[in-house]
Order: sequence, then structure tokens, then C-alpha cells
Amino acid sequence: MDDCLFCRMASGAIPVEKVAENELAFAIRDIHPRAPVHLLVIPKQHIADARDLAPADGDMLGAVFTLAVEAGRTEGVQHSGYRLAFNVGEAAGMTISHLHLHLLGGRPLGPEG
Ligand SMILES: [Zn+2]
Repeated sequence: MDDCLFCRMASGAIPVEKVAENELAFAIRDIHPRAPVHLLVIPKQHIADARDLAPADGDMLGAVFTLAVEAGRTEGVQHSGYRLAFNVGEAAGMTISHLHLHLLGGRPLGPEG
């Protein structure tokens, strides 16, 4: 997807600081952080959002969650805890149409924070 920001980051067309990476996913800092730690964990493969996931995406999702847990450890929120969340579509505030997992931590989050 040539016009997709996250695909362009994945391919290296747009240089970005990756705080963690594995074969199938990478993690970056959110440019508008809503918590002291706010990362986006992004699969390298283009999937618009969770509604497009299929059983064959299991390995990719495993890689996304594994990388999120690794990033939580390196960001120092492993013991305090953190939130992992997928927004799905416009009403959830999804602004980039490429699946990404938010990792939020570093402060008490509350049920919706
Ligand atoms: Zn994409």
C-alpha cells in the first residue's frame, strides 16, 4: 500500500525510530502520547483493521503481542501494568487505517483512560 503511512514506515520509505522490532511487527512512539508510555505496535503486513483479520493471521498477531510485551518490559511498565488496545474504525478514534495495537502505561489509566 503505497499511500499507507505505516506500510511506508515498515518498508523504510519513511524513516522512523523503531523502539522494538521482530520479523512481523515493529513498535514506535505515538506522536500524540496520551500516557507517559504510549507505543504503537504495528504489523508489517497491511491489514486495515481488526474487522479484516482471518485465522491465517495468527502468527502475525502472535508477533504483535510478543513485541508489545517485550516493549512493555524495555519501557519499564512490566510490573506496574499497562493497557493493550486495538481501536476499530472511526468511532473508536482510529485515524490510520492500518491495524495497530496501542500500548499505554506509566500512569493509572482507569477503565477507559
Ligand atoms: Zn498499511
